[in-house]
Amino acid sequence: MSPIKQIAIVGGGTAGWLTAARLAAHHKTKAGGVAVTLIESSAVPIAGVGEGTWPTLRSTLSKIGVSETEFIIKCDATFKQGARFDGWQTGSDSYFHAFADAGNRTNLPLERIWQSVKVHSSDAVYANEICFQAAIAQQGKAPKDITHPEYDSVANYAYHLDAGKFATFMREHCINNLGVKHVIGHVECVNSATNGDIASLTLQNGQIIEADLFVDCSGFHALLIGKHYDVPFISQSQYLFADTALAVQVPYEHESTPIASQTIATAQEAGWIWDIGLHERRGVGHVYSSSHMDEKTALDKLDVYLDGKLVDYNYRKIPIRSGHREVLWKNNCVAIGLSAGFFEPLEASAIALIELSADMLTEQLPTSRYGMDFIAKRYNKIMNYHWQSIIDFIKLHYCISKRTDSQFWIDNQHQNSIPESLQALLQHWRHQPPMHHDFALRDELFPTISWQYVLYGMGFETDFSGAPHLTIADEVLNEYQAHNKKLIQHLSDVLPAHRELINKIKKYGMSKI
Ligand SMILES: Cc1cc2nc3c(=O)[nH]c(=O)nc-3n(C[C@H](O)[C@H](O)[C@H](O)COP(=O)(O)OP(=O)(O)OC[C@H]3O[C@@H](n4cnc5c(N)ncnc54)[C@H](O)[C@@H]3O)c2cc1C
Repeated sequence: MSPIKQIAIVGGGTAGWLTAARLAAHHKTKAGGVAVTLIESSAVPIAGVGEGTWPTLRSTLSKIGVSETEFIIKCDATFKQGARFDGWQTGSDSYFHAFADAGNRTNLPLERIWQSVKVHSSDAVYANEICFQAAIAQQGKAPKDITHPEYDSVANYAYHLDAGKFATFMREHCINNLGVKHVIGHVECVNSATNGDIASLTLQNGQIIEADLFVDCSGFHALLIGKHYDVPFISQSQYLFADTALAVQVPYEHESTPIASQTIATAQEAGWIWDIGLHERRGVGHVYSSSHMDEKTALDKLDVYLDGKLVDYNYRKIPIRSGHREVLWKNNCVAIGLSAGFFEPLEASAIALIELSADMLTEQLPTSRYGMDFIAKRYNKIMNYHWQSIIDFIKLHYCISKRTDSQFWIDNQHQNSIPESLQALLQHWRHQPPMHHDFALRDELFPTISWQYVLYGMGFETDFSGAPHLTIADEVLNEYQAHNKKLIQHLSDVLPAHRELINKIKKYGMSKI
């Protein structure tokens, strides 16, 4: 029945600090509530990649009391309104996965708008018909202007950020404002209690850290969940082939060069290249399958993308092991972040999953050891569901492609490489559009509209003919389309260019809510 009064987190990367912040803000660490200690080794650097995020980060930052202005300035952050996918369907196509849901303005279900659009025009482009955001993002516009209070906006948005600067920013916020205790030390030994729980950690300098609950945020080292508990790692490389990333940081040509307000993901012969615009520089990387392409060819592809300038930059090679631990909560230890698992960075699911995990841990934190096993069981069940849905969502981008120009794309469309859960959904979506009923949880990582943006952006055909009565009347559709056009025109006129807004925020700041 011993109460949970002390939590120790191992690791000071994005996962460690975000989890520490959520726990400390909610459980009133600074005012004498649950004590949170974060231990990080000065000998082991953080991953320092991870520049794309989901809109959930806005509410996470707001919940932990971060000023959006300060975050943008200190993390070199910019606004991300979605992702543009070039060449994924045929090699010469382009589609947009936006974050905005136009439905909340009109109450018309997006799938019914699409069904009605298709009656009139079989080659319509989903994102352009459904919503204003693809158009304004492509014009390089920001999702808001300087008069919008922090976290408020015209169009839904996430951020692009410098992962190294973000960890430093979060560390300062946790220590200075939330009462988190920071210990620099290398964990050398994990000491067990008689019931199999972790009793304490011994650091290299001999210091012993005791706690009631331990959070493993030690990255790929997986010190507690992997090395100590030996929880099996479930590889998912049979579905997701990318296993290597080559990453570079690219300066802008001029300080006035426009900043893209979307991640640009350009398909390659054996993977894809990400291109992310921060305020001071771009982050660019080639993610590829080493079974389908050797490193020299992958570097050549990256060089072509960078107009032959790869030689000017230092690139980093990062191995990716697609998979996750069988369970993430074992005894009194919870793994969050890379220690829990990782898939390739398409659609930036990792930080969003860290936020979701930290939310679940924070809100359901057991008050005593007695309640922990019940919560752990439920947590593991839900997290397993999330892993599966991430695999399905990432795989969707590859398996409905029509590309046959390389073995990588052919293999990705092979039935054996598609999880059964996704095969069943695709079968279902041949006759019915994706709806929230297709997904089990209230807090899904990817909302239904995201599935629709990708599915219909890539030309997937749903046969709507079984429900002609659900099409929208022509006059309602015309009104919707006219409204969308007017909105695009209006927002194009009033919204500032993305770089202009970031410059203004750096100079004047945004007003608080
Ligand atoms: C190529 C690539 C691209 C990515 N892109 C994205 C993206 O666009 N969007 C996204 O959401 N995510 C992305 N990710 C994932 C993202 O980088 C991670 O989710 C994020 O950085 C979290 O890492 P972490 O905190 O779990 O681990 P790390 O950053 O690796 O931190 C591990 C911490 O553990 C500490 N540690 C290790 N051993 C010890 C020890 N013995 N004692 C004490 N401390 C120890 C280290 O000092 C460090 O502080 C990407 C990942 C890769 C590989």
